[in-house]
Amino acid sequence: MNVLRIFLSAIILMIVLCANAQPKYAMVIHGGAGVMSEAKMSQEARAEYETKLNEALKLGEKMLNEGATATDVVVKVINILEDSPLFNAGKGAVFTHDGKVELDASIMDGKTLMAGAVAGVRDIKNPICAAREVMRNSEHVFLSGKGASEFAKKQGLEIVPNKYFHTKARKESLEQLLKNERKRTNSDNTGTVGCVVLDSHGNLCAGTSTGGMTNKRFGRIGDTPVIGAGTYANNKTCAVSCTGHGEYYIRLGFARDISALMEYKNLTVQDACKTEIAKLTELNGTGGVIAIDQQGNIAMEFNTSGMFRGFIKSTGEKEVAIFK
Ligand code: ASP
Repeated sequence: MNVLRIFLSAIILMIVLCANAQPKYAMVIHGGAGVMSEAKMSQEARAEYETKLNEALKLGEKMLNEGATATDVVVKVINILEDSPLFNAGKGAVFTHDGKVELDASIMDGKTLMAGAVAGVRDIKNPICAAREVMRNSEHVFLSGKGASEFAKKQGLEIVPNKYFHTKARKESLEQLLKNERKRTNSDNTGTVGCVVLDSHGNLCAGTSTGGMTNKRFGRIGDTPVIGAGTYANNKTCAVSCTGHGEYYIRLGFARDISALMEYKNLTVQDACKTEIAKLTELNGTGGVIAIDQQGNIAMEFNTSGMFRGFIKSTGEKEVAIFK
């Protein structure tokens, strides 16, 4: 009887310890925040999104299990989402007023505080790869337009015609806006993608990639490639990737502010994200954010009706979700 009791206690203790164990690694992804209605989204569409998000999480999990660095994981996971026409990044990105696709992306390494970004590029198949090359192989942080493309070519990245990015759904969305059939809503742009990772070496990285906002003009650049606005990472605090109405995120210094709230005010990653989303709401801005700290605590906050999102942890916890 005593032996049984000791055995059961040991098992219960192990379960409790496992549940509270700090994960060795963890990863959070998003595929954009916006107006989404659970009632209006078809079962097929929902399944398609969930399948793609799961594919991205699975790849990240495998890489992290094998000891990959946070930076490599962020790039490869974002590549999956950029290559899918479902998201507003890479293939499937939104159209500018002139009927072109112009892409923005950035990445930041929390260990070194090195960062790279590209904006307004029209022919780089995977802008997040270009952002990483800027970080690794240039003396700069931020390249734009033709110069960024020239640099990407020199780095041997894949270059594609602008048409490669085009999809019927995004074209229709632009046409409706141009005909003034309706006002732009944030669901016109939904689908920016992002990834934040804590790797098994204890390092953080954040990356974000987008086509920006439908019908954008005059070389408009949003928050996504702006380090401190749409993307930020610092091993001391957290890694952050944002999605939403970029102008608000730039004005708030959104991603960096989350890190600062943790560093200077000792907020948890979750409370820092909640605080920042409240500031966004106060300005009537819309969007969401994902973040992770060095203990593997995560946050997925938004003030829209939905955000494509998911996470995995080395403890086995995982989730994919779309709606509130
Ligand atoms: N933040 C992106 C931008 O303003 C768009 C989005 O995330 O929906 O360019």
